[in-house]
Amino acid sequence: MLQIYNSLTKKKEVFKSVEEGKVSIYTCGPTVYSSSHVGNFSAFLMADLLVRYLKYKGFEVKWIMNITDVGHLTDDNELSDSGEDKMEAASKKENKTVWEIARHYEDLFMKDLKTLKILPAFKYPRATEHIEEMIDMIKLLDEKGVIYETSDGVYFDISKFKDYGKLSGNSLEALQAGARVEVNEDKKSPFDFALWKKLTGKNEDHIMKWDSPWGTGFPGWHLECSAMSKKYLGETLDFHTGGEDNKFPHHESEIAQSETANGKKFVNYWMHKSHIVLNDEKMSKSLGNFFTVQDVMNKGFSADSIRFTFITAHYRSKLNFNEDQLNESQKTIDKFNDFIQTVLKVNTSDCEDETASIIKSAKQQFEKGMDDDLNMSVALASLFGFMKSIRKNIESGNVSKESKTAVLDFMKELNSIFEVFDFDEKKEKEFSKDEQDVINKLIEKRNKFRAEKNWAEADKIREELIRMGVNIADKK
Ligand SMILES: [Zn+2]
Repeated sequence: MLQIYNSLTKKKEVFKSVEEGKVSIYTCGPTVYSSSHVGNFSAFLMADLLVRYLKYKGFEVKWIMNITDVGHLTDDNELSDSGEDKMEAASKKENKTVWEIARHYEDLFMKDLKTLKILPAFKYPRATEHIEEMIDMIKLLDEKGVIYETSDGVYFDISKFKDYGKLSGNSLEALQAGARVEVNEDKKSPFDFALWKKLTGKNEDHIMKWDSPWGTGFPGWHLECSAMSKKYLGETLDFHTGGEDNKFPHHESEIAQSETANGKKFVNYWMHKSHIVLNDEKMSKSLGNFFTVQDVMNKGFSADSIRFTFITAHYRSKLNFNEDQLNESQKTIDKFNDFIQTVLKVNTSDCEDETASIIKSAKQQFEKGMDDDLNMSVALASLFGFMKSIRKNIESGNVSKESKTAVLDFMKELNSIFEVFDFDEKKEKEFSKDEQDVINKLIEKRNKFRAEKNWAEADKIREELIRMGVNIADKK
């Protein structure tokens, strides 16, 4: 049974879906005011891994990822509501309309999702196309008596939601004791968050605007996700995922809105992706270590190595993303693909072999790891053991036709999760006399290391040979 660490209860829980056999997942998508950096995709790849594993387990998955194209303020992470809309700020900076900015960065984002082979979501709803649903939700909140209007907007009175803080620990008392925020005279509490912003003060010239019962304006960022998740997935979601930095105030506020408006539990399992650091530093524009997916690929790394690095590092551990990591990932991918080539080329014989039981136990171990909060290191270890056992059978010439098919089918099943394996049989390569000399020397050197049981050095040479297009099999 799948167990997932629930950020809300802070413990691993057995997963049970609201509707049998079906799973609903909502992921907070990007705010499309600039390029996403490669680290942002680690959160989307965590969701991709979850979606793929649930599908592997036979669930029918409905996945929604929103596009925030209005209302995300520059200081929204501090809960002060006095910043500028990120979209509007980018529009001024780049001298383009907000709409041009929104569509341009949305296109880039979609391209990167595809490059990293992230499964398509059921829908990518844009905030600007769901204003009606957001206004409806404010009306519902109004009926419950938890909102109030000021000269510059409509606010959620967090003192009316006693569970505020249950996700992040930032209850009203904790906030009052700690955080410093800019005082807005009109607000009952500086910690109340905006549901609707009116076109006054800093927002007087806001281009994206809509009519509402509270005057012309635009929605608050948190409201967008509550309204869109409800529209597409209903009142109680199985999973809600996002980056760790979305936890507060964004997700905390989503809970307050949705649970008050709908009178139901909002999310059964919250999953948050830990921060990614780049060469031990936080990725940020100001530090000058801001890389897009394309930037990393331009340095000669494959998209698959980025994908593999993010899905195989456990999502709750802090990943230090650097060139060594990417090189390691590429080596592991090559190892898998080298194994697949060996299996594709194997000469089968009429024999009884143990392949079926080797696959069965590898599959069990793999699922045991994945079922334990997507523990990839356990899952991967089972596959390395599996490849070793199958190679042994191949080397001793004991592989039947059925076994060969079964191994390839298992690898294909796994690839529905990893998506980095290559099943095209590669043609034999012709080498010149000089190249053959180099290859033979490397093989001799490798044999020497093997005789000395220096496996690390021997493996290095094997990798070098693979890069040259030479596949070595050690037979009796
Ligand atoms: Zn969100």
